[in-house]
Amino acid sequence: MKKLSLVTKIFIGLALGIIAGLLLQNHVDIANTYIKPFGTLFLNLLKMVIVPLVFFSLMSGAIGIGDITKVGRIGGRTIIYFFGTTVIAILFALGFSQAFKVLHVEDFFSIDFNAEVSVNQANSIVDTLLNMVPTNPIAALANGDMLQIIVFALFFGFGVLALGACTHELAKLIDTCAEVMYKITDWIIQLTPYAVFALMTPVVAANGPDVLLPLISIIGVVYVTCIVHGIVTYSVSMKLFTKVSPITFFKEAAPAILFAFSSTSSAATIPLSMESSKKLGVALPIRSFVIPLGSTIHMDGSAIYQSIAAVFIAQICGVDLTLGQMLIIILTATLSSIGAAGVPGAAIVMVSMVLESIGLPLEGIALVVGVDRILDMARTSLNVGGDIAGAVVVAAMEGELDVEKTKQEVPVCPE
Ligand code: ASP
Repeated sequence: MKKLSLVTKIFIGLALGIIAGLLLQNHVDIANTYIKPFGTLFLNLLKMVIVPLVFFSLMSGAIGIGDITKVGRIGGRTIIYFFGTTVIAILFALGFSQAFKVLHVEDFFSIDFNAEVSVNQANSIVDTLLNMVPTNPIAALANGDMLQIIVFALFFGFGVLALGACTHELAKLIDTCAEVMYKITDWIIQLTPYAVFALMTPVVAANGPDVLLPLISIIGVVYVTCIVHGIVTYSVSMKLFTKVSPITFFKEAAPAILFAFSSTSSAATIPLSMESSKKLGVALPIRSFVIPLGSTIHMDGSAIYQSIAAVFIAQICGVDLTLGQMLIIILTATLSSIGAAGVPGAAIVMVSMVLESIGLPLEGIALVVGVDRILDMARTSLNVGGDIAGAVVVAAMEGELDVEKTKQEVPVCPE
């Protein structure tokens, strides 16, 4: 029998998960007790690798770029691209959610202001910026604080570069550690088709079509906006900054996007995003720098989700958003999407930051929490597509986008 590709297997897992979920609608407890733990096991495995994966990959990328000013320039270009696309994403989200006002979501919902919402208070913008610098890097690693880990990894990489030749052995060790983390993640990725089944079944069993119906409008707008932003913004990016055709871009990015759809974690998708960037011709140091950075600070999908949730919750509360409030949404959604880690469900905390900034009740989150996984699948896919687009654009600007060269790359650890 011909061996099925991972992508095909993931699709089969997804389809079987939906069918099993529909069959188990009256037995949610069975789905939760016997099937869900396998999904949780998979997510735990992913969480296990995320911190060392980002840490070593980013250090290895910064060191591989080879000189501090060049890292600075590439970092600057990366951040400008990431910022720019996130603002465009939010503009799309605000536009689409205004257009979809005709759906009158307020007729379907009421917000229970006494509802218990278990969301941690998000930090203010100033705190988010100040918190980026870890006062204790070991604590940052232990707590999985991704922004702090990024800052420390970059400083460490700069230190290695600054000391030059005498750190050669250390640089090699860091590259090898990054390779080891890619290998471990690769094993976990092979489990995805089964995990997708185990994660989908309880979601479908618990949410069923009936519960989903009133929320279909929100889900629909999030999906439509993510798809439109993905196709328009990333295709235009390819056309403007690179010689890669949008079709080639999406073809090569597809495995990573699909994996993001099922794992709902951009951090866990790093190895696949790296592979896609390699196939698109992004040189090794650039991709090992831009992709892990993007998995944490670049989240167009999450920013879209936050903006749409804010507009819908405002509508349900009967509040008409002013232009000023919309500008605040753009600012807060951009900054909070930078602060969150690329792990499942991260955006829920970010939404609270946006709601608070425009004075809407936090209880509104209760409306979307139930279907968060379904929304997370769309936004993570877009987050990952955006990271790969960023890597391709930055590589093109640096003159380091060459498919022939990446084909001939010598692996750090030959098979
Ligand atoms: N799950 C998303 C990611 O990993 C973050 C979020 O929007 O919750 O990119």
